[in-house]
Amino acid sequence: MKTVLLIDDEPVFREVLGQLLEPHGWKIIEAGDGEEGLALAARHKPDLILCDLMMPRCNGFAVTRAVRSDARIKNTRIIITTGSTYATDRIHAFEAGADEFLLKPIPLKELLAAIDRVTTGRITPSTTQADGESVSAIQATLPPARVTNAAGADGNNFVRFWGVRGSLPTPGPGTIFYGGNTSCVELRADGEIIILDAGSGIRPLGLHLAAEFKGAPLHLTLLISHTHWDHIQGFPFFLPAYNPVNKVHVLGYEGSRQGLESILSAQMESPYFPIGLKQMPGNIKITEMREFEFEVGRVKVKATFTNHPGICIGYRLETSSGSVAYLPDNEPFQRLRSLPSHATGDATESAAYARKQDQRLIDFVKDVDVLIIDAQYNDREYQKHVGWGHGCLDDVVGLAILANVKRLFLFHHDPGHDDAEISRMVAWARQIATERQSALRVEAAREGMEVFLKPDRKGK
Ligand SMILES: [Zn+2]
Ligand SMILES: [Zn+2]
Repeated sequence: MKTVLLIDDEPVFREVLGQLLEPHGWKIIEAGDGEEGLALAARHKPDLILCDLMMPRCNGFAVTRAVRSDARIKNTRIIITTGSTYATDRIHAFEAGADEFLLKPIPLKELLAAIDRVTTGRITPSTTQADGESVSAIQATLPPARVTNAAGADGNNFVRFWGVRGSLPTPGPGTIFYGGNTSCVELRADGEIIILDAGSGIRPLGLHLAAEFKGAPLHLTLLISHTHWDHIQGFPFFLPAYNPVNKVHVLGYEGSRQGLESILSAQMESPYFPIGLKQMPGNIKITEMREFEFEVGRVKVKATFTNHPGICIGYRLETSSGSVAYLPDNEPFQRLRSLPSHATGDATESAAYARKQDQRLIDFVKDVDVLIIDAQYNDREYQKHVGWGHGCLDDVVGLAILANVKRLFLFHHDPGHDDAEISRMVAWARQIATERQSALRVEAAREGMEVFLKPDRKGK
């Protein structure tokens, strides 16, 4: 009997696939995450692996690479089953060693044809459509990455924006009001200083911290959403990382092609930068996370995958005085999947799949006090940037209303948007909220803006 190993964190998807394949003579083995999948693959040596991409404890790219480098199972056929329509994800999956790449939801006929191709040796990678469920609730407990700090211990919990721009820093007279630095947000809460992303905005944050604490030891936690350059490029210029009394704990997830540490150090190799990551005198610890729920001191953190090329993570942080969600790069599914370039075979099933994916994100940010989210394009611009991995203003406002978000901060401003354009986008977003009789408050993230979480403090 042939054996297939189903690796997917969505039990319903595994169940549906199992029911489809059993009548065709397959013995089914299931794993709920990448780590478990690799262990079962080594133990059972299956004929075929069907593997999701976005999973906790070892993503599908890494599972594929690990299978290919393990002499005992390296010839196992691997079919990637994913909701990602990004061309780069497909390329990276094949680079990692996948034999096929199928888009969820996967019609049975497509699935059987693909299985036939890979198991009979006729390997002709093709992108097809799909049926089924996908990555949803990802839960686990994690070794707490605890740090403590005096800052914020007085209950003065707040969010402060240091970089709000997407893609590329854009200084100049047109961006003076909202700012030109790339992604960096500071959260001070419950005695912690948590930094979200290390775009060029982390440089002024570092200067500010050094001046504020005057050399006193700092314990900082840096959460990385993903390693596109606009989210890590400021790290080599982060002053606290050069002071040996400071502790900087960097947390993030493995990328589609490389681990977190190797990507962070690659941008500091000698052709690009004079000082290597390991030469930075600060006490820097890099943890590649495998779990999706953890704690930073008393702040509870949840993570989720966003829809963006490669591995990209959104964070939700629960503090004693309110919650903050940070999803700097994300392209909502429904409009993307409704367009011909990203459409799938069965329109109804594809739309249902997209709705479910967006609902997953709505659930993730449900009732959050502060939502910081990618709203790079207006409706007209989005039509020209479908599949670029970024949000459209109208969709983002709709998502925030459905999720009962209190305050929405438009983020990851397009480098081509000057202050006037961003202000127009805010006005448009407010109009949508008014028309839908929503109490949602909308602002555009702006460098230097502080948002107080304590209910009796007035945010700007
Ligand atoms: Zn970005
Ligand atoms: Zn990105």
